[in-house]
Amino acid sequence: MQSKIFWGLMLVSLALNNPKTLAQTLPLSPQLIPFNSSQGEQLLLDSQARQDYFLLSNQFVTQINQAYCGVASSVMVLNALGLSAPESRQYKPFHVFTQENFFDREETKKVVSADLVSRRGMTLAQLGDLLISHGAKVKVYYGSDIDLDRFRFLLLQNLSKRDNFAIVNYLRKTIGQERGGHISPIAAYNQRTDRFLILDVSRYKYPPVWVKAIDLWQEIKTTDADAGKTRGFVLVTK
Ligand code: CA
Repeated sequence: MQSKIFWGLMLVSLALNNPKTLAQTLPLSPQLIPFNSSQGEQLLLDSQARQDYFLLSNQFVTQINQAYCGVASSVMVLNALGLSAPESRQYKPFHVFTQENFFDREETKKVVSADLVSRRGMTLAQLGDLLISHGAKVKVYYGSDIDLDRFRFLLLQNLSKRDNFAIVNYLRKTIGQERGGHISPIAAYNQRTDRFLILDVSRYKYPPVWVKAIDLWQEIKTTDADAGKTRGFVLVTK
């Protein structure tokens, strides 16, 4: 019996000391504040623009493949807006937006195919058109067209109201993350530190993070080679 306990403890100890056996996110650059820390939590408690956090956190999902960040972000926002959703095959007869039924509508397939998005992700323009295909109203902003003050103002205004949402398309590399273009919803703004909270949908890789407004703005001014334009953000309403 004692030997069984000993070997049980040995296995636990091996598992804890071998990172390959642990589900763990990648290390974060010091310029980011993880939301899963006491400092990160405090920034939300002190935030004056956090209306969207509560509705989005009710819908927070992990992208189901490594190119589906735009689909996962869209599903969160469409469900948070309460738009009319297709029937879910998994949860039949319930209607809810999922990453599996996102491309069921003919209008959606016309924008870009699920197959192509699974391999290459989506551009900012496609993100806007895909959301429109589900009945949302969308305004697309390119990083090339917007200065820092306007960027901060538009997001801050949006985050102070419950009936609209912001999704950002940025280059991870600029903030010391691995590595390419990415898409996720923004949930809150902290005035004292001038930081936005990104609800990163690749939850297997990074926690939600608080990023400096200027850093996020620089990330959206990078060029997306697939689009031949800069990245940016979309503001979405019913
Ligand atoms: Ca809002």
